[in-house]
Amino acid sequence: MTFFPLAAFNDNYIWITLDTAKKSIWAVDPGDAKVVLDYCHSQKVTLEGILVTHHHKDHTGGIQELVQHFECPVYGPESLAPHLVSKPIRQGEEILVHGTAFLVLETPGHTLDHLCYFAEPSTSKQLLLCGDTLFRGGCGRLFEGSPAQMLSSMMKLRSLPPETLVYGTHEYTLSNYRFALAIDPNNSALIEADKTATALRDNETPTLPSTIALEQQTNPFMRFDREEVVAGAAALLNEPMAMDTINSFAQIRRAKDGF
Ligand SMILES: [Zn+2]
Repeated sequence: MTFFPLAAFNDNYIWITLDTAKKSIWAVDPGDAKVVLDYCHSQKVTLEGILVTHHHKDHTGGIQELVQHFECPVYGPESLAPHLVSKPIRQGEEILVHGTAFLVLETPGHTLDHLCYFAEPSTSKQLLLCGDTLFRGGCGRLFEGSPAQMLSSMMKLRSLPPETLVYGTHEYTLSNYRFALAIDPNNSALIEADKTATALRDNETPTLPSTIALEQQTNPFMRFDREEVVAGAAALLNEPMAMDTINSFAQIRRAKDGF
């Protein structure tokens, strides 16, 4: 099973997976209907289903028009049912996408309703569709949740198999790495990842998917328990270093918000 991105707005990716035999696709967070409709028309495929991670408009704006066209099911948080989501789902439930089971993980923090979807396909690597919770080199802003909630969401994702491919919604990698390098400048894996990502962007190529292993090594929001990362964030904020995990995570997030 593979996902590929359709670019939308300035820096969104609508992730698509195609079943060539059935000539049908699933779309993740279709913020813009036209992008998906154009793809379906040009490739002569139908939309079989939609997965939604959270309520923000750039993830949901295209749903109504797409459903009118294809009458497909929409899986997502209960907060969007029944208006946008026809199949509300919760932590621990599974959805079949082209025959592969995706497990629902509740990951509040960016929003309170945020869901991620994790799969272990029999024929390819594990996959995580993570919306605005986890980005390559960063995490979503805390618009609704607390640092403790986002920390627990990050720990949930950090414990997934290291080889898991990570599909976030935004191409924020280079700006995330600028911040990460400012607080964690001696991290050789981060320096290397920044070089690779810069080369990809120079060729206008997406830097996604990432992997859980790469995020464990480079993402400051997965490295909240590394003393050098918290010290770097404290120095940037000109504050004393936080002494417990939740406040360390919050300090890194605050440093990023003001960067
Ligand atoms: Zn969002």
